[in-house]
Amino acid sequence: MGRQQGNGSKAAGLLALLATSATATPILTPANWMRMVDNSLKGVAADVRSLFLSGTAPNNTSSRCKVYPGDRNWPSDETWANLNKLVENRLLDRPEPLASVCYNGTLYNAEECVKVTAHWNESYSHFDNAVEMMSPVAQGMTCLPPNIFDSRACTRGGFPMYVINATKPEHVQMGVNFARNTGVRLVVKNTGHDFLGKSSGQDALSIWTHYFKDIEYIEEYVDAETGYLGPAFKAGVGVQAFEIYKAAHEKGHSVVGGEGETVGIFGGYIQGGGHSPLTSLYGTGADQVLSFEVVTADGDYVTANSKSNTDLFWAMRGGGGSTFGIATSVTVKAHPDFPTTASRFSFTSEKIGNETFWAAIRDYVDYFIPNADAGTYAYWTLIPNVWTGIFSFSMSPFFAPNKTLEETHALLQPWFTRLEELGIDFNPNITHFDSYYEAWRSSFPLETVGKINATTGSRMFPRGNFETKEKRDELFQNLRQSSENNRVQVHFNIKAVDPANSDNAVNPAWRENILFAQQAVRWNSNGAAAETLKVRQEFQSGDMQRWRDISPGAGSYLAEADRLEPDFGQAFWGDKYPRLLELKAKLDPHDVFFATTSVGSERWKVESVDGLPNENGKLCRVEN
Ligand SMILES: Cc1cc2nc3c(=O)[nH]c(=O)nc-3n(C[C@H](O)[C@H](O)[C@H](O)COP(=O)(O)OP(=O)(O)OC[C@H]3O[C@@H](n4cnc5c(N)ncnc54)[C@H](O)[C@@H]3O)c2cc1C
Repeated sequence: MGRQQGNGSKAAGLLALLATSATATPILTPANWMRMVDNSLKGVAADVRSLFLSGTAPNNTSSRCKVYPGDRNWPSDETWANLNKLVENRLLDRPEPLASVCYNGTLYNAEECVKVTAHWNESYSHFDNAVEMMSPVAQGMTCLPPNIFDSRACTRGGFPMYVINATKPEHVQMGVNFARNTGVRLVVKNTGHDFLGKSSGQDALSIWTHYFKDIEYIEEYVDAETGYLGPAFKAGVGVQAFEIYKAAHEKGHSVVGGEGETVGIFGGYIQGGGHSPLTSLYGTGADQVLSFEVVTADGDYVTANSKSNTDLFWAMRGGGGSTFGIATSVTVKAHPDFPTTASRFSFTSEKIGNETFWAAIRDYVDYFIPNADAGTYAYWTLIPNVWTGIFSFSMSPFFAPNKTLEETHALLQPWFTRLEELGIDFNPNITHFDSYYEAWRSSFPLETVGKINATTGSRMFPRGNFETKEKRDELFQNLRQSSENNRVQVHFNIKAVDPANSDNAVNPAWRENILFAQQAVRWNSNGAAAETLKVRQEFQSGDMQRWRDISPGAGSYLAEADRLEPDFGQAFWGDKYPRLLELKAKLDPHDVFFATTSVGSERWKVESVDGLPNENGKLCRVEN
């Protein structure tokens, strides 16, 4: 368990020692590594050397768009070859998307195509590929398995052209310097999980962080500034949930991370906030960060923590990925790996009828505040079937960290009694596990990714939406309306209050959250682009707007949201947005980093070839 300052002479002694020490963060990288990359440029010809130097200002700031093939400033093949040499031959030239094996050409392979098609909806298929992301809709749908969507040919669309398969901070520095100095668009891919597809960009240079895989256990991390004294893990940013959870369990710990087993929790997840099965107890993922190692927009390699580069540290905890710097490692608090109880159950309206079904859901809403306050996490879905008119509810799972079977039963029993009174057969399975790790492994589904005709919008409904019967009725009616409008809903009944009260850029709406709600709109994937756009816009002005109207001033979660979220600065960061904009201007004045809907991204737009919100087009400045 992370302990706080002030109790115990050992802690006081250590803190006193640190107060007099010049290196308060002994595990971190020495500052003299900062511009180490410039030392490796000695042998590079003078005329191209300037393209790799740190701290320089770009010389093409007046161009309307980033630099693209065919432009005068597009780097020559020789220059790309130089970059390849400087990143130790880790530059991939036009890496192939997964479905390239399905289309005519030298890569065609019918057998492989069958495999790619069969596993298309699994995240495990996508994260090991240098360019794939799990939202093909955001890529522009230009290379999918034909049995899933016929792209007619496999073209690069919104995929990057070059990828640095980085394994060292120097590789990242070199890529950042090159992008800044040439004006080529830069993107960062970790796993490609982001709902909005922010890890990609047409003809960009991508820095792929997947293979930063080191994990270091720190038995006693001391942060003299915040008073944190306790266990921690320092992890490379490519470490995924399933890897760190196992490593933490082996040391008798857990860490705050997503439920999704393949999420890159030290990449986009943690910088965007990040919710977790442990969030009702410990706050968001970003609240756990003790330190980052970061490559800045200047190409410097720095430590950002409570003592060094504090602005950067503040912004990177919640301000979103691909905005202020590229992290190469993150150090986070570790928590105990305590016994956990989990329950899964489901029911449909088929036998009981719709009114009874909705009476059951309405009743459940009454328990959201007490359940979140008890430290639990409920991951549940509402699925409509437009053909049969049947609605389905699934709890998968109700998750109670550090709770016994009896305690969990006591929390669920009032609602279960009501379900029984309503004559609902729901067959609950309540299981107690010796560890958080085993409970997590056994309870969560591997979710479907790679959808071709859907997008998700989200809303954090605050406590105020649940405090009176009238408010709960109103909220319930809005969820029911969404189901009746054929929206698939995914919900998280959690609170996200940080017990350490960290000052960071996490969306303030999280602190009030009781229900983090998602709804997805679907469309005909073979329809015209204009039809798709209309459906998406109507979703925003209709079902999403209803949710916003009943939760004024609340927000949406930047990593699980719609690219068309209006006023995204307010929605993703609330009253922290003005400071984030100031820091963006200070830390990345040349907009080296960009991702759609990121801080400051209003200045740019991807001019997509089909007019849909995706990465298949040039990134250009928005004309005033
Ligand atoms: C199946 C599934 C399950 C999920 N479960 C959860 C969950 O339980 N809780 C939750 O909160 N979210 C969850 N998410 C959402 C997830 O947190 C986001 O998709 C998040 O952005 C993933 O981060 P990533 O680094 O893995 O993904 P990527 O898509 O690779 O990156 C996301 C963004 O961060 C940037 N980025 C990545 N690494 C770095 C870095 N080192 N430095 C700077 N920028 C970087 C990228 O450029 C991009 O803009 C889930 C998503 C899916 C698809």
